[in-house]
Amino acid sequence: MVRKMEEDQQDIKNILDRVVQHATQFFDELDFRPASVNPNRDLYDGLPIEGHGALQVLEQFQSTYSKQLSGSVGPRYLGFVTGGTTPASMAGDWLVSLYDQNVTGLEDSAAGLMEIETISMLRELFHLPVEFSGAFVSGATMANFVGLAQARQWVAHQYAKDISQEGLYNVPPIQVVSGAPHSSIYKSLSMLGMGRKSVHLIPCLPNREAVDIDKLQKFLEENKNKPCIIVANAGTVNTVDYDDLHAIGQLKDKYSFWFHIDAAFGGFAACSKKYRHLVEGMDQADSITIDAHKWLNVPYDSAMQFSKHKPLQVEVFQNHAAYLGNAIEHPEFIHLTPENSRRFRALPAWFTLKAYGRTGYQELVESNAYLAELLTQKIQESETFMLLAPTKLNVVCFTLAMRDKPMTFEDIKRFLERLNQEGHVFMTPTIYQGIPGIRAAFSNWRTKGEDVERIWNALCGVDQFM
Ligand SMILES: *Cc1c(COP(=O)(O)O)cnc(C)c1O
Repeated sequence: MVRKMEEDQQDIKNILDRVVQHATQFFDELDFRPASVNPNRDLYDGLPIEGHGALQVLEQFQSTYSKQLSGSVGPRYLGFVTGGTTPASMAGDWLVSLYDQNVTGLEDSAAGLMEIETISMLRELFHLPVEFSGAFVSGATMANFVGLAQARQWVAHQYAKDISQEGLYNVPPIQVVSGAPHSSIYKSLSMLGMGRKSVHLIPCLPNREAVDIDKLQKFLEENKNKPCIIVANAGTVNTVDYDDLHAIGQLKDKYSFWFHIDAAFGGFAACSKKYRHLVEGMDQADSITIDAHKWLNVPYDSAMQFSKHKPLQVEVFQNHAAYLGNAIEHPEFIHLTPENSRRFRALPAWFTLKAYGRTGYQELVESNAYLAELLTQKIQESETFMLLAPTKLNVVCFTLAMRDKPMTFEDIKRFLERLNQEGHVFMTPTIYQGIPGIRAAFSNWRTKGEDVERIWNALCGVDQFM
């Protein structure tokens, strides 16, 4: 008998009520919660022999552990590119756990069809043509992995080989060509057995993170007989720079390569008429990565991989077993991504897209870009800070103005430690063109003009101690 679990089930209404109370209190306090915390490592007390039951555990969580969690869902967490959680997406996310579907195919539930509908809404949101199919994965790193896995299979086909059957052994080394790739590209290539060193960097334009198209073309010309993979970047993490996607697409007429775009958060430029030109040519890609847990503002564990080559994808990821009964005339999710069993990841995205629509996301993107511009103006007018690059969209890349000597990475880290410790804001360091700096990434629907004031005061407050 599963006694404790049955007791809890008897009490489920009470348990859920308490969770709702906890959530309500969390939202009430979110504005005052520190953006980040330095966790206490002595909290952890191990596995109980006799469990405590859900209510008591909730109490324990509430009174100690929850206070050690960051305010990353709040308006002034500007580290990495973190994104928030819209109310509708949170409702959807809770329901994912309630229904606990395993979205491997289309047979036993509408969940798979809802994933297809969600992908279709996202295609509309990003103005992508219907040739793209798509599936949810856990994040942009996995979406890049899925894109590159198909690319690898495609390159092998050019040599009349099948990597999915024979491995990499009989295929010449594959070059992955890019201007300013995200670190997850290297990680994916390591996982794919192609190796981090398969990246061939092409110089970027002066003072930019966008690839120099002439130099890219020169490379392609010199390697005409070697099919390769181009990883184009649509929104780099430091300066939100974009490769000229249209120009890269045009090169496909002359050269043989797979065109992957990492548009983890930059793809959202497509939501706004004002910024859509940045992703012009995205439709020409073979595969595209876009994160949902960043600018779509759904909870973590959500990204989309789009592809024009579903059959290749199936070659790589198909999974057969008699007990699964899954013939692949209609290959669905189990045959498309690294996972077999899959959470109903589409549901939070489905909720938020239905709840806020195209206009909601246009407003979110434009509002975040406006806030980044506000902070940019303050930096431009200040003597304490200086921009490292013009602000293109939603990330402000800046540093402390030089005093008697140039700032070191240690100086920046010390500054950020003080800043983040105050709890008003959380920002992360970077190095841009050899200069240590700070990134402030706006990607949360909650952030407002008054937050930029608080952020600015916090920045100026720390400076007095430096
Ligand atoms: C965040 C990011 C990634 C990795 O995304 P995860 O969701 O953390 O796996 C990849 N590429 C770019 C451009 C990103 O901004």
